[in-house]
Amino acid sequence: MCTKTERRKRIVVLGTVAVLAAVSISISASQNLTTSALVAAELEVVKDNLYVITGSSPLDREAFSGGNTGVFVADEGVTIVDTKLPGWGHVILEKIRTVTDKPVIRIINTHTHGDHNGSNSFFPETVSIVAHENARTRMSEMEVFQGENAKFLPSQIYQGNLTIGSGSDRIELYHFGRGHTDGDTFILYPALGVLQTGDMFPWRDAPFLDRNNGGSGVEFPRTLSRVLNELDGIETVIPGHIPVTTWAELQKYQSFTAHLLQFVETAKASGQSADDVVSSIDVPSRYEGYESNRVEAAVRVIYEEIP
Ligand SMILES: [Zn+2]
Repeated sequence: MCTKTERRKRIVVLGTVAVLAAVSISISASQNLTTSALVAAELEVVKDNLYVITGSSPLDREAFSGGNTGVFVADEGVTIVDTKLPGWGHVILEKIRTVTDKPVIRIINTHTHGDHNGSNSFFPETVSIVAHENARTRMSEMEVFQGENAKFLPSQIYQGNLTIGSGSDRIELYHFGRGHTDGDTFILYPALGVLQTGDMFPWRDAPFLDRNNGGSGVEFPRTLSRVLNELDGIETVIPGHIPVTTWAELQKYQSFTAHLLQFVETAKASGQSADDVVSSIDVPSRYEGYESNRVEAAVRVIYEEIP
């Protein structure tokens, strides 16, 4: 039994708990929407009806919102390629609304990482979500897609390649093999001569080789070779995390990853330890504008992977 005053106190306390809970939910939902991240997320024209919503380098945590988001405005509606981190859906939609009133009808996820599919759940359930079958399998194990949220997993999957739409609205999806993960999709906008690579060309530095999600440093340069050999008519490339660039820069990235692999293979074959390779590798310095923040991690993965 409790008195009126006690009851009132309890109500006040419960009310405070509820307010605190609401505050912490809104903080966690918007924790990465910092001013610098919002500034870095700009909508830019790539070509004609294709745009990119940019983001900072993942090394700048304060300004990071996730990977580049492609926005393709076709007659039937808008296709988005990648949805950044959780909490960024409304920013993506606001940016899209500055260039078109057409509905978002489709999301393509380039791969399984949360900085590329984190805001899938912001969009209505009527939006179709497309990815490679391996990406879907990996995504189904992610925390954010459990239970009720499983409905935001890809509903349309493919294996080798997939064509969506026709004429100038045509989009082609390609899976060329393992690399960053085992389910990376390249998106070609054939009418525009533009290719979006996801994290198969993330930055000018060693790639993140996610072995836990089927990635491979040995296959990475071979997979990029297939892109270079099997696709043509491409002038412009939208990378995973750096500004829009050229086909020649993708060619250069393929050379860089092949060179990285070759260096580790040769050193390991001559009896060097992984530490020896890490301290002696000089590949990035031979590529103008390249950094070496991620070289050690990649070298260790490749060293382990090669027989
Ligand atoms: Zn990734």
